[in-house]
Amino acid sequence: MSAELDELRVEIDDVDKQMVELLARRLALVEKVGEVKSKYGLPIYVPEREATMLASRREEAESKGVPGALIEDILRRTMRESYSSENDSGFKCLKPTLKPIVIVGGHGQLGGLFARMFSLSGYEVRILGRNDWDRADEILADVGMVVISVPIDLTEATILRLKNLPENCILCDLTSVKSRPLSAMLEVHSGPVVGFHPMFGPDIPSLAKQVIVCCEGRFPEQYSWLKAQFQIWGATVRDIDATDHDQGMTLIQALRHFTSFAYGLHLSQEDPNIEQLLSLSSPIYRLEIAMVGRLFAQDPNLYADIIMSAPENLEMIKRFHQRFGDAISILENKDKVKFVDSFNEVEQWFGDYSQQFMKESKNLLRQAHDAIHRES
Ligand code: NAD
Repeated sequence: MSAELDELRVEIDDVDKQMVELLARRLALVEKVGEVKSKYGLPIYVPEREATMLASRREEAESKGVPGALIEDILRRTMRESYSSENDSGFKCLKPTLKPIVIVGGHGQLGGLFARMFSLSGYEVRILGRNDWDRADEILADVGMVVISVPIDLTEATILRLKNLPENCILCDLTSVKSRPLSAMLEVHSGPVVGFHPMFGPDIPSLAKQVIVCCEGRFPEQYSWLKAQFQIWGATVRDIDATDHDQGMTLIQALRHFTSFAYGLHLSQEDPNIEQLLSLSSPIYRLEIAMVGRLFAQDPNLYADIIMSAPENLEMIKRFHQRFGDAISILENKDKVKFVDSFNEVEQWFGDYSQQFMKESKNLLRQAHDAIHRES
């Protein structure tokens, strides 16, 4: 039996080696694609090409008895690798006549990422850091665009220091909140102004499929190339009014980060043995604790600023607290009927999304499960 198994394992090893060879060939081809795209200024992420390619591969796989989902998983993972390697070829510069870009806070996490992306696209990038204000006139001389990327609580005051920018200089920011920075930029500068909120952190391998929110300020025709530049980097730009953005962020960021913070605080005070919890965990618990735990690997000031950035955030969190309390009283009253009724109400509110989320999360959970390595 063991000889029989060994023989099969040798064959499997051989197939795996061929797969490695093929992947190496595919990555080399993608590198060439990256060079061509960079030369012609084509976006690194083209949704239609991705969808058509996946559909054909699924069909081909299924005709050979290979599950479509398997080839889709493999290809999606391979494409993620490809998108990040396409960064290496650099990107076409859509505005070669632009004078230097100054990133205020460009030594920070997000400012640093954008400094790299602009440099990879051939722009001259200068950084105005915290200790550079005595040289600000020199750094800002002849500037074509200023990007603000400083901590949220310093953003407005920093913007207001930027008096006398050249008339046609673009002033923009990357702050996670939008209304107040945008007003400050419009107040201090009479030229083109725009607010951006990258919906991602600095640890992404590529901007492919990432969203950058855009809140128009003034003279959009003068910075339309910048939105196109982000698209070349692979990002999707979503236009929204600054107030609507901030309202959305109350739920998307403030409430979510706060509940993770409170859950983390609760766990730390309950002080369970985390190793033991993980060894017993289902993939869903592992994912949940990873999502909470990752918050605490980041900068507490950023999250404090995001959560405390608007009075509406506190109001929302208080309403959540109230409903949390109401839900506890269902338990105190052992009111199973009320629990089930409330559950059904929520299900109705989610509508078709609950089934869709069930499907999406199944995929994530399978991936989390694949990543498990249990000591035998
Ligand atoms: P960070 O602390 O890593 O970087 C901020 C930088 O600003 C630091 O280098 C700091 O020295 C510098 N700085 C502070 N005061 C300054 C001043 N007066 N003049 C010039 N530079 C100054 O923070 P970050 O995470 O990069 O966040 C920057 C901005 O990006 C924030 O507005 C944040 O809302 C936004 N943002 C961050 C993320 C993220 O995940 N990090 C995501 C989206 C948006």
